[in-house]
Amino acid sequence: MFESKTIDEKKQGTVLMKDNFLSKKNKKVYIESYGCQMNFSDSEIVASILLEIGYETTRDIKSANLILINTCSIREKAEQTVRKRLDFFRASKNKKTSIGILGCMAERLKSKFLEEEKLVDLVVGPDSYRDLPNLLKEVNDGRKAINVILSKEETYADLNPVRLDKNGITSFVSIMRGCDNMCSFCVVPFTRGRERSREPKTIINEIKELENNGYKEVTLLGQNVDSYLWTGGGLKKDFQKLSKEAKKNSVNFAQLLDLVARNTFMRIRFSTSHPKDMTDDVLHIMAKHKNICKYIHLPVQSGSSRILKLMNRGYDRDWYLNRVKSIKNIIPECGISMDIITGFCDESEKDHLDTLSLMKAVKYDFGYMFKYSERPNTLAERKYKDNVPDKIKSKRLSEIIDLQQKHSLEQNEKYIGKICEVLVEGLSKKSDDDLFGRTTQNTVAVFPKENTKIGSIVNVLITNCTSATLIGKLIN
Ligand code: SAM
Ligand code: SF4
Repeated sequence: MFESKTIDEKKQGTVLMKDNFLSKKNKKVYIESYGCQMNFSDSEIVASILLEIGYETTRDIKSANLILINTCSIREKAEQTVRKRLDFFRASKNKKTSIGILGCMAERLKSKFLEEEKLVDLVVGPDSYRDLPNLLKEVNDGRKAINVILSKEETYADLNPVRLDKNGITSFVSIMRGCDNMCSFCVVPFTRGRERSREPKTIINEIKELENNGYKEVTLLGQNVDSYLWTGGGLKKDFQKLSKEAKKNSVNFAQLLDLVARNTFMRIRFSTSHPKDMTDDVLHIMAKHKNICKYIHLPVQSGSSRILKLMNRGYDRDWYLNRVKSIKNIIPECGISMDIITGFCDESEKDHLDTLSLMKAVKYDFGYMFKYSERPNTLAERKYKDNVPDKIKSKRLSEIIDLQQKHSLEQNEKYIGKICEVLVEGLSKKSDDDLFGRTTQNTVAVFPKENTKIGSIVNVLITNCTSATLIGKLIN
């Protein structure tokens, strides 16, 4: 549970596949995705590009003409998982199967990947998926193919993603790509390029289409959604060069959120918020619209201002706590979650205690906690020493996890005796007699199904809980 981000760890490596896919063509692609939700969303864009050239998705590796792995580079472990998968694919590959590496590892390792892993035929970075038809022609002619060019413009705005392996109830829409933040530990700016935002009109169109197809919830995705800024296209860093008129007509995240909320009845979520950019305007828009879920994922990374400075996060402990205060003032019922990295370069016991005390001050509903993993070419790798011994990283991580579990239980206990609105997403994992869904605060609730339809919003009286789940019964 605690080594994952937006995606449940159990979903890592999920085979993406559209059920009842209507295609007359007989080429088959098997796509496996790792990492953050953005990667899973990108696989849907890839499926849509491949559909145009006659590939249908399959869950059966043996019947695939093309095996694609959409990779993650965020921690060393994520890369090791992909390498192990390649060993497994070595056995399934025959003369007719091509293997392609997509995403962050493709971008980070470029042609080195083709040199290191001889069975790989194709390496494609996150901004080059439109080139897949040309690259596949090369591969089919017996050559290796690679495109890892990062773009200033690409947002895949005009493409209609093929919705893969979804419950038909909740979905994801990318609103921006890349990241300009340069946190010293993070590989994302190198693998996903500079920040650019997607045109609001195309975001609204995609959301309306989801709604027309019966979806009930959409999550707006970006590495730093609060930094969203539509200025007519191009890189965010070029904003200052724009005319007065263009600056005036630009659309920021608070405005986009307002626009989305007014154009759909679906529930709206967004991820990820960055503490340095999250404005009160966004919080007021959240408070104003009932269909915007009252939940913010606000990664803190560390509770020590000294470490936050080394991490180049752009805020200190006081700033972060002030943002949390604003959330609690403007949206008192808001759920808050976090990411924390433990054992970053030079982290002392006092810095670690600062993290624990910040957690106590905020009382997060839940969190994702990681041991620091040094990544090649990042500022931290170049400038600092990864000098916290692994044993200490592990000890601090378990202290953080234990505290968070205690807080999650306390937070969930607050709902006992209360009625929560829950969007029903499916059958509970433990029993076919129970359904599960999420509250506006993004907490999972489980309750006996009775005659409830999946996709409906129901009132659930919470009668019990664990640190991860609310347990209740339906109320008419
Ligand atoms: N853009 C988001 C933000 O700034 O909060 C996070 C994106 S990153 C894909 C998700 C999380 O992975 C980060 O919040 C951080 O906690 C963790 N992470 C990133 N680089 C890491 C590293 N080198 N070692 C351990 N965890 C890392
Ligand atoms: Fe990485 Fe920082 Fe950008 Fe998040 S904001 S993707 S942690 S560089």
